[in-house]
Amino acid sequence: MKSVISAKDIEELLRKGGDPGSLPADAILTPSARDRLRELESPNSHKPSAPAALSPVVKPVHSKSPKAEIEAFFNSPAIHALKEQLCDVGRRLWQREYVDGNGGNIAIRVGEDIALCTPTLVSKGFMKPADMCLVDLSGNQLAGTNKRTSEILMHLEIMKRQPRAVATCHCHPPYSTGFAVAGLVPPTCMIPEFEVFASVAIAPYRTPGTPEMGQLVAELVDKHNTILMANHGVVSWSHNNVEDAYFKMEILEAYCRTVLVTAQLGRPAQTMTPPQLQDLLKIKQSLGIPDPRHGLKECELCDNNEWRPGVTCAVPGAVNGNGNGTLAPDSEAEALVQAITEQILARSK
Ligand SMILES: [Zn+2]
Repeated sequence: MKSVISAKDIEELLRKGGDPGSLPADAILTPSARDRLRELESPNSHKPSAPAALSPVVKPVHSKSPKAEIEAFFNSPAIHALKEQLCDVGRRLWQREYVDGNGGNIAIRVGEDIALCTPTLVSKGFMKPADMCLVDLSGNQLAGTNKRTSEILMHLEIMKRQPRAVATCHCHPPYSTGFAVAGLVPPTCMIPEFEVFASVAIAPYRTPGTPEMGQLVAELVDKHNTILMANHGVVSWSHNNVEDAYFKMEILEAYCRTVLVTAQLGRPAQTMTPPQLQDLLKIKQSLGIPDPRHGLKECELCDNNEWRPGVTCAVPGAVNGNGNGTLAPDSEAEALVQAITEQILARSK
């Protein structure tokens, strides 16, 4: 079986004094592993690995720490940097029209039982670091002058149920939300990025901001990192950082849009084969991204039975003999259309 090499594996190899040139020629390289090898080939670019969510110089606090310590923590440069990241992600959500009005909210775990989050009633496109709030995992506000988002309970339920979740992002991107309104998880095996980075499930509708909504989403975060919320929107979590949680939104939204375009072209989608998907799932597993299909047999992958592309205008018929794949008109269907048209015209006289 081919082995999957991630950027972490390459770092490990370098630390042990190994030679990246000795990697098996048929190994599958993750995209970040490929980037790392390219960096190593150009001798002057030694990019440091991604910074951790918090620098170790900040004294950690928890929800029961003295008020003064919590305030000092909340106003520290390290937390300020995370507040700026929340503003940056919020701006990108708004610019891409993934949020509307004061919709959407974002959170970052900054301690064992505390999280930084966006405020309520503010457009995500125009937030300032001073707007951010600090809460405990029950949603009680610990610091910040603005009131925390009313949907924070959902983010906190995800963090409680999924200890690896360091950041969460919620918004209402129209194409993905369309699938959520239809109660449909997008079909699979069409685009590699979607297969590698997102694992989608759908949670039933409940009133936004209620503990019940949060619990229903949290039940899915063991095996999924991107949850469609029926008749509402999407929420994602990341084990890396807040930008990565946001990336899930871009990937899902672009995917849902592509699937809808595909469905309108009047031809069945060409999906990847189960062995091709299996290769992608190996990369996904090496990146630490959950997926309920990890460990399934190949014949159980790429099951799109629930996917029924809505409308195709072409009448199903024989493919033209000219080999260009265009559909030839079906004479029986044409005769039927003609008969119905005549009847309608006769009645309208
Ligand atoms: Zn919402």
